[in-house]
Amino acid sequence: MPGRILVVDDIPSSRLVVRARLSMAYYDVIEAASGEDALELARKEQPDLILLDIMMPGMDGYETCRQLKNDPKTAHIPVVVLSGLSSREERVLGFEAGADDYLNKPFEDSALLARISGLTRMKMMIDELRLRAETSRELGLEPFAPAGALGAFPDASVLIVSSDEEFGAAAARALRERIHCGVAHARGEAEAKALIRSNDFDAFVIGTELSDGEPMRMASALRGRPDTRQAALMMVFQAEDVAGPALALDMGVPDYLQGPPDLCEMAARLRVQLRRKHYSDQLRDSLQASVVQAVTDPLTGLYNRRYANAHLEQMIQKPRAPQRRLAAMILDLDRFKSVNDGHGHSAGDAVLVEFAERLRRVVRPTDLISRVGGEEFLVVMPDILPEHAETVAERVRHSVESPPFQAGEATLDLTVSIGLALMLEGETSVSLIERADRALYASKAAGRNTVTLAAA
Ligand code: GH3
Ligand code: MG
Ligand code: MG
Repeated sequence: MPGRILVVDDIPSSRLVVRARLSMAYYDVIEAASGEDALELARKEQPDLILLDIMMPGMDGYETCRQLKNDPKTAHIPVVVLSGLSSREERVLGFEAGADDYLNKPFEDSALLARISGLTRMKMMIDELRLRAETSRELGLEPFAPAGALGAFPDASVLIVSSDEEFGAAAARALRERIHCGVAHARGEAEAKALIRSNDFDAFVIGTELSDGEPMRMASALRGRPDTRQAALMMVFQAEDVAGPALALDMGVPDYLQGPPDLCEMAARLRVQLRRKHYSDQLRDSLQASVVQAVTDPLTGLYNRRYANAHLEQMIQKPRAPQRRLAAMILDLDRFKSVNDGHGHSAGDAVLVEFAERLRRVVRPTDLISRVGGEEFLVVMPDILPEHAETVAERVRHSVESPPFQAGEATLDLTVSIGLALMLEGETSVSLIERADRALYASKAAGRNTVTLAAA
Protein backbone atom coordinates (compact mmCIF):
# COMPACT_ATOMS: atom_id res chain seq x y z
CA MET A 1 0.00 0.00 0.00
CA PRO A 2 1.56 3.29 -1.02
CA GLY A 3 0.20 5.21 1.93
CA ARG A 4 -2.48 7.39 3.40
CA ILE A 5 -3.03 10.98 2.45
CA LEU A 6 -4.95 13.67 4.29
CA VAL A 7 -6.63 16.07 1.87
CA VAL A 8 -7.47 19.44 3.39
CA ASP A 9 -9.81 21.72 1.44
CA ASP A 10 -12.91 23.69 2.41
CA ILE A 11 -14.62 22.98 -0.92
CA PRO A 12 -16.15 19.47 -1.08
CA SER A 13 -15.88 19.20 -4.87
CA SER A 14 -12.15 20.02 -4.75
CA ARG A 15 -11.62 17.27 -2.21
CA LEU A 16 -13.57 14.91 -4.42
CA VAL A 17 -11.37 15.58 -7.47
CA VAL A 18 -8.19 14.99 -5.50
CA ARG A 19 -9.62 11.91 -3.82
CA ALA A 20 -10.51 10.37 -7.18
CA ARG A 21 -7.02 10.88 -8.59
CA LEU A 22 -5.26 9.59 -5.50
CA SER A 23 -7.53 6.56 -5.18
CA MET A 24 -6.66 5.62 -8.74
CA ALA A 25 -3.01 5.53 -7.66
CA TYR A 26 -3.99 3.25 -4.70
CA TYR A 27 -3.59 5.87 -2.00
CA ASP A 28 -5.93 5.82 0.98
CA VAL A 29 -7.56 9.19 1.39
CA ILE A 30 -8.91 10.93 4.48
CA GLU A 31 -10.44 14.38 4.34
CA ALA A 32 -10.60 17.52 6.44
CA ALA A 33 -12.74 20.56 5.60
CA SER A 34 -10.80 23.08 7.68
CA GLY A 35 -7.38 23.81 9.11
CA GLU A 36 -8.64 23.10 12.61
CA ASP A 37 -9.97 19.67 11.61
CA ALA A 38 -6.75 18.98 9.74
CA LEU A 39 -4.61 19.51 12.86
CA GLU A 40 -6.76 17.14 14.86
CA LEU A 41 -6.91 14.45 12.17
CA ALA A 42 -3.21 14.65 11.46
CA ARG A 43 -2.38 14.08 15.12
CA LYS A 44 -4.84 11.25 15.47
CA GLU A 45 -4.48 9.45 12.15
CA GLN A 46 -0.80 10.06 11.41
CA PRO A 47 -1.17 10.21 7.61
CA ASP A 48 1.88 9.76 5.36
CA LEU A 49 1.34 13.05 3.60
CA ILE A 50 -0.92 16.10 3.78
CA LEU A 51 -2.30 17.97 0.76
CA LEU A 52 -3.22 21.40 1.95
CA ASP A 53 -5.37 24.15 0.45
CA ILE A 54 -4.38 27.73 1.29
CA MET A 55 -7.55 29.78 1.07
CA MET A 56 -9.94 28.48 3.69
CA PRO A 57 -12.29 30.28 6.06
CA GLY A 58 -11.00 30.30 9.62
CA MET A 59 -7.44 29.10 9.86
CA ASP A 60 -5.77 29.42 6.45
CA GLY A 61 -3.31 26.95 4.95
CA TYR A 62 -0.19 28.87 5.96
CA GLU A 63 -1.18 28.91 9.61
CA THR A 64 -2.27 25.27 9.48
CA CYS A 65 1.08 24.35 7.99
CA ARG A 66 3.00 26.30 10.62
CA GLN A 67 1.10 24.55 13.40
CA LEU A 68 1.59 21.12 11.83
CA LYS A 69 5.31 21.75 11.58
CA ASN A 70 5.57 23.03 15.14
CA ASP A 71 3.87 20.01 16.68
CA PRO A 72 6.32 17.17 17.39
CA LYS A 73 3.49 14.73 16.67
CA THR A 74 3.04 15.95 13.09
CA ALA A 75 6.26 17.81 12.21
CA HIS A 76 7.66 14.85 10.28
CA ILE A 77 4.63 14.48 7.97
CA PRO A 78 5.33 16.04 4.57
CA VAL A 79 2.96 18.82 3.56
CA VAL A 80 2.24 19.68 -0.07
CA VAL A 81 0.42 22.93 -0.60
CA LEU A 82 -2.12 22.73 -3.41
CA SER A 83 -3.21 26.23 -4.06
CA GLY A 84 -4.99 28.45 -6.56
CA LEU A 85 -2.59 31.22 -5.56
CA SER A 86 0.34 31.00 -7.89
CA SER A 87 2.49 34.07 -7.40
CA ARG A 88 6.11 33.68 -6.39
CA GLU A 89 5.41 35.47 -3.09
CA GLU A 90 2.65 33.01 -2.24
CA ARG A 91 4.91 30.08 -2.96
CA VAL A 92 7.73 31.45 -0.85
CA LEU A 93 5.23 32.10 1.98
CA GLY A 94 4.18 28.46 1.75
CA PHE A 95 7.75 27.22 2.05
CA GLU A 96 8.39 29.59 4.89
CA ALA A 97 5.41 28.16 6.73
CA GLY A 98 7.23 24.83 6.47
CA ALA A 99 5.56 23.27 3.41
CA ASP A 100 7.60 20.55 1.72
CA ASP A 101 6.29 21.35 -1.71
CA TYR A 102 3.95 23.75 -3.46
CA LEU A 103 1.81 22.91 -6.47
CA ASN A 104 -0.66 25.15 -8.26
CA LYS A 105 -4.25 24.29 -8.97
CA PRO A 106 -5.30 23.05 -11.45
CA PHE A 107 -2.54 20.49 -11.05
CA GLU A 108 -1.21 17.95 -13.50
CA ASP A 109 -1.79 14.39 -12.28
CA SER A 110 1.68 13.18 -13.16
CA ALA A 111 3.43 16.08 -11.45
CA LEU A 112 1.33 15.63 -8.32
CA LEU A 113 1.87 11.88 -8.16
CA ALA A 114 5.62 12.17 -8.79
CA ARG A 115 6.00 14.65 -5.94
CA ILE A 116 3.82 12.60 -3.63
CA SER A 117 5.68 9.40 -4.29
CA GLY A 118 9.05 11.08 -3.71
CA LEU A 119 7.90 12.58 -0.43
CA THR A 120 6.23 9.43 0.89
CA ARG A 121 9.37 7.44 0.10
CA MET A 122 11.41 9.97 2.01
CA LYS A 123 8.97 9.80 4.90
CA MET A 124 9.21 6.02 5.05
CA MET A 125 12.93 6.35 5.58
CA ILE A 126 12.43 8.90 8.35
CA ASP A 127 9.70 6.73 9.92
CA GLU A 128 12.13 3.86 10.10
CA LEU A 129 14.62 6.06 11.93
CA ARG A 130 11.89 7.38 14.21
CA LEU A 131 10.84 3.86 15.06
CA ARG A 132 14.36 2.87 15.96
CA ALA A 133 14.78 6.00 18.05
CA GLU A 134 11.51 5.16 19.80
CA THR A 135 12.73 1.64 20.54
CA SER A 136 15.96 2.97 21.97
CA ARG A 137 13.99 5.29 24.18
CA GLU A 138 11.82 2.46 25.42
CA LEU A 139 14.96 0.55 26.27
CA GLY A 140 15.87 3.47 28.48
CA LEU A 141 18.57 4.76 26.15
CA GLU A 142 19.29 8.31 25.01
CA PRO A 143 16.03 10.26 24.89
CA PHE A 144 15.38 11.99 21.61
CA ALA A 145 13.94 15.47 21.12
CA PRO A 146 14.25 16.65 17.53
CA ALA A 147 14.41 20.37 17.07
CA GLY A 148 12.05 21.64 14.37
CA ALA A 149 14.63 24.02 12.99
CA LEU A 150 13.23 26.60 10.64
CA GLY A 151 15.08 29.57 9.26
CA ALA A 152 18.83 29.85 9.02
CA PHE A 153 21.35 27.03 8.70
CA PRO A 154 24.64 28.82 9.32
CA ASP A 155 26.55 25.54 9.65
CA ALA A 156 25.27 24.14 6.37
CA SER A 157 27.34 24.30 3.21
CA VAL A 158 25.96 24.16 -0.30
CA LEU A 159 27.75 23.36 -3.55
CA ILE A 160 26.37 24.96 -6.71
CA VAL A 161 27.48 23.18 -9.87
CA SER A 162 26.87 25.34 -12.92
CA SER A 163 28.89 26.49 -15.91
CA ASP A 164 26.77 29.64 -15.98
CA GLU A 165 28.87 32.23 -14.10
CA GLU A 166 26.04 34.66 -13.69
CA PHE A 167 23.56 32.11 -12.37
CA GLY A 168 26.19 30.63 -10.03
CA ALA A 169 27.00 34.01 -8.52
CA ALA A 170 23.37 35.10 -8.15
CA ALA A 171 22.32 31.74 -6.66
CA ALA A 172 25.22 31.86 -4.19
CA ARG A 173 24.20 35.36 -3.12
CA ALA A 174 20.55 34.34 -2.65
CA LEU A 175 21.48 31.30 -0.55
CA ARG A 176 23.89 33.27 1.62
CA GLU A 177 21.31 35.99 2.22
CA ARG A 178 18.34 33.74 2.86
CA ILE A 179 19.75 30.64 4.52
CA HIS A 180 22.98 32.16 5.85
CA CYS A 181 24.78 29.01 4.78
CA GLY A 182 28.22 28.58 3.27
CA VAL A 183 28.26 28.33 -0.53
CA ALA A 184 30.86 27.06 -3.00
CA HIS A 185 30.61 27.14 -6.79
CA ALA A 186 32.00 24.56 -9.21
CA ARG A 187 31.94 25.18 -12.99
CA GLY A 188 31.72 21.52 -13.95
CA GLU A 189 31.90 17.90 -12.92
CA ALA A 190 35.67 17.71 -12.45
CA GLU A 191 35.80 20.76 -10.23
CA ALA A 192 32.78 19.52 -8.29
CA LYS A 193 34.42 16.13 -7.69
CA ALA A 194 37.55 17.75 -6.32
CA LEU A 195 35.51 19.94 -3.96
CA ILE A 196 33.38 17.01 -2.77
CA ARG A 197 36.50 15.03 -1.96
CA SER A 198 37.76 17.68 0.43
CA ASN A 199 34.47 19.04 1.82
CA ASP A 200 31.33 17.76 3.49
CA PHE A 201 28.47 19.43 1.64
CA ASP A 202 24.93 19.37 3.03
CA ALA A 203 23.29 20.35 -0.23
CA PHE A 204 23.90 20.44 -3.96
CA VAL A 205 22.35 22.58 -6.68
CA ILE A 206 23.01 21.23 -10.15
CA GLY A 207 22.42 23.40 -13.19
CA THR A 208 21.52 21.56 -16.37
CA GLU A 209 23.33 23.85 -18.78
CA LEU A 210 26.43 21.71 -18.13
CA SER A 211 27.70 19.58 -20.99
CA ASP A 212 26.02 16.40 -22.27
CA GLY A 213 24.88 13.92 -19.64
CA GLU A 214 26.88 15.62 -16.89
CA PRO A 215 23.99 16.81 -14.70
CA MET A 216 22.18 13.46 -14.61
CA ARG A 217 25.42 11.58 -14.09
CA MET A 218 26.28 13.82 -11.16
CA ALA A 219 22.82 13.58 -9.63
CA SER A 220 22.88 9.81 -9.86
CA ALA A 221 26.37 9.63 -8.36
CA LEU A 222 25.33 11.89 -5.48
CA ARG A 223 22.30 9.71 -4.73
CA GLY A 224 24.43 6.57 -4.93
CA ARG A 225 27.40 7.50 -2.76
CA PRO A 226 26.96 6.79 0.95
CA ASP A 227 28.62 10.07 1.95
CA THR A 228 26.34 12.26 -0.18
CA ARG A 229 23.13 10.19 -0.30
CA GLN A 230 21.55 12.08 2.60
CA ALA A 231 22.45 15.51 1.23
CA ALA A 232 19.84 17.92 -0.09
CA LEU A 233 19.74 18.04 -3.88
CA MET A 234 18.08 20.41 -6.30
CA MET A 235 18.30 20.38 -10.08
CA VAL A 236 17.66 23.43 -12.21
CA PHE A 237 16.27 22.54 -15.65
CA GLN A 238 15.98 24.68 -18.76
CA ALA A 239 12.44 25.88 -19.38
CA GLU A 240 12.09 23.76 -22.54
CA ASP A 241 13.28 20.49 -20.97
CA VAL A 242 10.21 18.23 -20.69
CA ALA A 243 11.79 14.85 -20.00
CA GLY A 244 14.42 15.96 -17.49
CA PRO A 245 12.33 16.69 -14.39
CA ALA A 246 10.44 13.40 -14.52
CA LEU A 247 13.66 11.47 -15.01
CA ALA A 248 15.24 13.30 -12.08
CA LEU A 249 12.34 12.61 -9.71
CA ASP A 250 12.46 8.98 -10.78
CA MET A 251 16.13 8.85 -9.94
CA GLY A 252 15.37 10.02 -6.42
CA VAL A 253 16.25 13.70 -6.88
CA PRO A 254 14.06 15.27 -4.20
CA ASP A 255 13.33 18.59 -5.88
CA TYR A 256 13.87 20.63 -9.00
CA LEU A 257 13.13 24.01 -10.51
CA GLN A 258 12.61 24.91 -14.10
CA GLY A 259 14.42 27.95 -15.40
CA PRO A 260 15.04 30.72 -15.39
CA PRO A 261 14.53 29.89 -11.72
CA ASP A 262 13.30 32.28 -9.13
CA LEU A 263 16.14 32.49 -6.63
CA CYS A 264 13.92 33.27 -3.62
CA GLU A 265 11.95 30.16 -4.33
CA MET A 266 15.11 28.19 -4.85
CA ALA A 267 16.40 29.25 -1.44
CA ALA A 268 13.03 28.52 0.19
CA ARG A 269 12.87 25.05 -1.36
CA LEU A 270 16.44 24.25 -0.46
CA ARG A 271 15.77 25.31 3.10
CA VAL A 272 12.92 22.79 3.27
CA GLN A 273 15.35 20.06 2.29
CA LEU A 274 18.00 21.25 4.71
CA ARG A 275 15.48 21.22 7.53
CA ARG A 276 14.53 17.65 6.67
CA LYS A 277 18.17 16.63 6.51
CA HIS A 278 18.87 18.32 9.83
CA TYR A 279 16.00 16.35 11.36
CA SER A 280 17.11 12.97 10.04
CA ASP A 281 20.76 13.71 10.90
CA GLN A 282 19.68 14.34 14.46
CA LEU A 283 17.73 11.11 14.52
CA ARG A 284 20.67 9.21 13.11
CA ASP A 285 23.14 10.77 15.56
CA SER A 286 20.94 10.01 18.52
CA LEU A 287 20.58 6.42 17.32
CA GLN A 288 24.32 6.19 16.94
CA ALA A 289 24.71 7.48 20.48
CA SER A 290 22.19 5.01 21.84
CA VAL A 291 23.84 2.12 20.04
CA VAL A 292 27.16 3.10 21.59
CA GLN A 293 25.42 3.36 24.93
CA ALA A 294 23.92 -0.10 24.52
CA VAL A 295 27.27 -1.80 24.08
CA THR A 296 29.52 0.10 26.45
CA ASP A 297 30.05 0.11 30.17
CA PRO A 298 29.39 3.64 31.40
CA LEU A 299 31.96 3.52 34.21
CA THR A 300 35.04 2.48 32.24
CA GLY A 301 33.98 3.14 28.65
CA LEU A 302 34.94 -0.44 27.81
CA TYR A 303 32.63 -2.71 25.85
CA ASN A 304 30.10 -4.66 27.90
CA ARG A 305 29.46 -8.39 27.96
CA ARG A 306 26.73 -8.22 25.34
CA TYR A 307 29.10 -6.69 22.82
CA ALA A 308 32.02 -8.91 23.80
CA ASN A 309 30.02 -12.08 23.19
CA ALA A 310 28.80 -10.92 19.79
CA HIS A 311 32.23 -9.72 18.76
CA LEU A 312 33.96 -12.88 19.91
CA GLU A 313 31.68 -14.89 17.62
CA GLN A 314 32.72 -12.66 14.70
CA MET A 315 36.39 -13.07 15.54
CA ILE A 316 36.07 -16.85 15.64
CA GLN A 317 34.75 -16.89 12.07
CA LYS A 318 37.83 -15.10 10.77
CA PRO A 319 40.53 -17.24 9.12
CA ARG A 320 44.02 -16.74 10.54
CA ALA A 321 47.60 -17.81 9.85
CA PRO A 322 48.32 -21.39 11.09
CA GLN A 323 50.88 -20.47 13.75
CA ARG A 324 48.65 -17.69 15.09
CA ARG A 325 45.66 -18.26 17.31
CA LEU A 326 42.89 -16.51 19.05
CA ALA A 327 43.38 -16.23 22.80
CA ALA A 328 41.10 -15.09 25.59
CA MET A 329 41.92 -14.03 29.09
CA ILE A 330 39.59 -13.42 31.97
CA LEU A 331 40.85 -11.11 34.67
CA ASP A 332 39.51 -10.60 38.15
CA LEU A 333 40.87 -8.12 40.67
CA ASP A 334 42.03 -9.74 43.88
CA ARG A 335 40.24 -8.95 47.14
CA PHE A 336 38.50 -6.08 45.49
CA LYS A 337 35.74 -6.15 48.06
CA SER A 338 38.23 -4.89 50.62
CA VAL A 339 38.79 -1.74 48.55
CA ASN A 340 35.10 -0.94 48.79
CA ASP A 341 34.95 -1.94 52.44
CA GLY A 342 38.04 0.02 53.43
CA HIS A 343 37.87 3.10 51.22
CA GLY A 344 34.30 3.38 49.98
CA HIS A 345 32.50 2.52 46.80
CA SER A 346 33.77 5.54 44.89
CA ALA A 347 37.37 4.54 45.59
CA GLY A 348 36.42 1.15 44.17
CA ASP A 349 35.04 2.85 41.08
CA ALA A 350 38.21 4.88 40.64
CA VAL A 351 40.26 1.67 40.82
CA LEU A 352 38.10 0.07 38.11
CA VAL A 353 38.57 3.08 35.84
CA GLU A 354 42.32 3.09 36.42
CA PHE A 355 42.49 -0.66 35.84
CA ALA A 356 40.69 -0.27 32.50
CA GLU A 357 43.21 2.41 31.56
CA ARG A 358 46.17 0.16 32.40
CA LEU A 359 44.62 -2.67 30.38
CA ARG A 360 44.24 -0.42 27.35
CA ARG A 361 47.89 0.51 27.60
CA VAL A 362 49.28 -3.02 27.64
CA VAL A 363 47.18 -4.79 24.99
CA ARG A 364 47.14 -4.19 21.24
CA PRO A 365 44.57 -1.83 19.73
CA THR A 366 43.06 -4.78 17.84
CA ASP A 367 42.42 -6.70 21.05
CA LEU A 368 38.92 -6.50 22.47
CA ILE A 369 38.71 -5.36 26.07
CA SER A 370 35.41 -5.63 27.89
CA ARG A 371 34.05 -5.40 31.39
CA VAL A 372 31.95 -8.50 31.81
CA GLY A 373 31.14 -8.24 35.51
CA GLY A 374 31.73 -6.04 38.55
CA GLU A 375 35.50 -6.45 38.75
CA GLU A 376 35.82 -9.05 36.04
CA PHE A 377 37.20 -8.32 32.58
CA LEU A 378 37.59 -10.20 29.34
CA VAL A 379 40.32 -9.57 26.78
CA VAL A 380 40.12 -11.32 23.42
CA MET A 381 43.30 -11.33 21.39
CA PRO A 382 42.86 -12.36 17.77
CA ASP A 383 45.85 -13.50 15.69
CA ILE A 384 48.41 -13.91 18.42
CA LEU A 385 51.34 -16.27 18.78
CA PRO A 386 50.66 -18.56 21.79
CA GLU A 387 53.88 -17.54 23.55
CA HIS A 388 52.97 -13.86 23.07
CA ALA A 389 49.60 -14.40 24.68
CA GLU A 390 51.32 -15.52 27.87
CA THR A 391 53.69 -12.56 27.71
CA VAL A 392 50.76 -10.16 27.41
CA ALA A 393 48.97 -11.76 30.36
CA GLU A 394 52.10 -11.47 32.48
CA ARG A 395 52.48 -7.86 31.40
CA VAL A 396 48.93 -7.14 32.52
CA ARG A 397 49.56 -8.80 35.88
CA HIS A 398 52.70 -6.69 36.37
CA SER A 399 50.97 -3.49 35.38
CA VAL A 400 48.49 -3.97 38.21
CA GLU A 401 51.04 -5.00 40.80
CA SER A 402 52.94 -1.77 40.41
CA PRO A 403 52.73 1.13 40.58
CA PRO A 404 50.06 1.20 43.32
CA PHE A 405 46.61 2.59 42.49
CA GLN A 406 45.56 6.05 43.48
CA ALA A 407 41.97 6.48 44.66
CA GLY A 408 41.43 9.96 46.06
CA GLU A 409 43.81 10.29 49.03
CA ALA A 410 44.41 6.58 49.30
CA THR A 411 47.26 4.64 47.73
CA LEU A 412 46.28 1.02 47.17
CA ASP A 413 48.32 -2.06 46.44
CA LEU A 414 46.33 -4.30 44.16
CA THR A 415 46.82 -7.48 42.23
CA VAL A 416 44.92 -9.32 39.55
CA SER A 417 44.35 -13.01 38.82
CA ILE A 418 44.21 -14.14 35.22
CA GLY A 419 42.97 -17.22 33.37
CA LEU A 420 44.31 -17.53 29.82
CA ALA A 421 42.97 -19.90 27.17
CA LEU A 422 44.30 -20.46 23.66
CA MET A 423 41.59 -21.39 21.26
CA LEU A 424 41.62 -25.00 20.09
CA GLU A 425 40.85 -26.19 16.58
CA GLY A 426 37.07 -26.04 16.06
CA GLU A 427 36.38 -24.84 19.60
CA THR A 428 33.25 -22.83 20.40
CA SER A 429 33.33 -19.48 22.17
CA VAL A 430 31.44 -20.96 25.09
CA SER A 431 34.03 -23.66 25.65
CA LEU A 432 36.90 -21.17 25.24
CA ILE A 433 35.44 -18.89 27.89
CA GLU A 434 34.72 -21.81 30.21
CA ARG A 435 38.34 -22.94 30.04
CA ALA A 436 39.59 -19.42 30.71
CA ASP A 437 37.19 -19.22 33.67
CA ARG A 438 38.49 -22.44 35.15
CA ALA A 439 42.07 -21.22 34.72
CA LEU A 440 41.11 -18.02 36.54
CA TYR A 441 39.69 -20.08 39.39
CA ALA A 442 42.98 -22.00 39.53
CA SER A 443 44.89 -18.70 39.76
CA LYS A 444 42.71 -17.66 42.71
CA ALA A 445 43.20 -21.05 44.37
CA ALA A 446 46.97 -20.81 43.87
CA GLY A 447 47.10 -17.67 45.99
CA ARG A 448 46.08 -14.93 43.47
CA ASN A 449 48.31 -12.48 41.53
CA THR A 450 48.91 -15.31 39.08
CA VAL A 451 48.46 -16.16 35.40
CA THR A 452 47.22 -19.69 34.68
CA LEU A 453 47.22 -21.14 31.19
CA ALA A 454 44.11 -23.23 30.67
CA ALA A 455 44.46 -26.94 29.97
CA ALA A 456 43.49 -27.97 26.44
P1 GH3 B 1 38.52 -12.32 44.89
O1 GH3 B 1 39.96 -12.06 45.10
O2 GH3 B 1 38.14 -13.71 45.27
O3 GH3 B 1 38.09 -11.98 43.52
O4 GH3 B 1 37.75 -11.38 45.94
P2 GH3 B 1 36.91 -10.10 45.60
O5 GH3 B 1 36.67 -9.36 46.83
O6 GH3 B 1 37.57 -9.34 44.49
O7 GH3 B 1 35.60 -10.73 44.99
P3 GH3 B 1 34.11 -10.65 45.37
O8 GH3 B 1 33.38 -11.27 44.22
O9 GH3 B 1 33.88 -11.24 46.74
O10 GH3 B 1 33.75 -9.12 45.48
C1 GH3 B 1 33.66 -8.32 44.34
C2 GH3 B 1 33.27 -6.94 44.81
O11 GH3 B 1 33.21 -6.03 43.72
C3 GH3 B 1 31.89 -6.92 45.43
C4 GH3 B 1 31.19 -5.78 44.76
O12 GH3 B 1 30.54 -4.93 45.66
C5 GH3 B 1 32.29 -5.05 44.05
N1 GH3 B 1 31.81 -4.38 42.84
C6 GH3 B 1 31.18 -4.91 41.79
N2 GH3 B 1 30.90 -3.96 40.87
C7 GH3 B 1 31.39 -2.79 41.36
C8 GH3 B 1 31.40 -1.45 40.88
O13 GH3 B 1 30.94 -1.12 39.78
N3 GH3 B 1 32.00 -0.50 41.65
C9 GH3 B 1 32.53 -0.83 42.85
N4 GH3 B 1 33.09 0.16 43.56
N5 GH3 B 1 32.50 -2.08 43.34
C10 GH3 B 1 31.96 -3.05 42.61
MG1 MG C 1 37.77 -10.20 42.61
MG1 MG D 1 34.47 -11.52 41.65
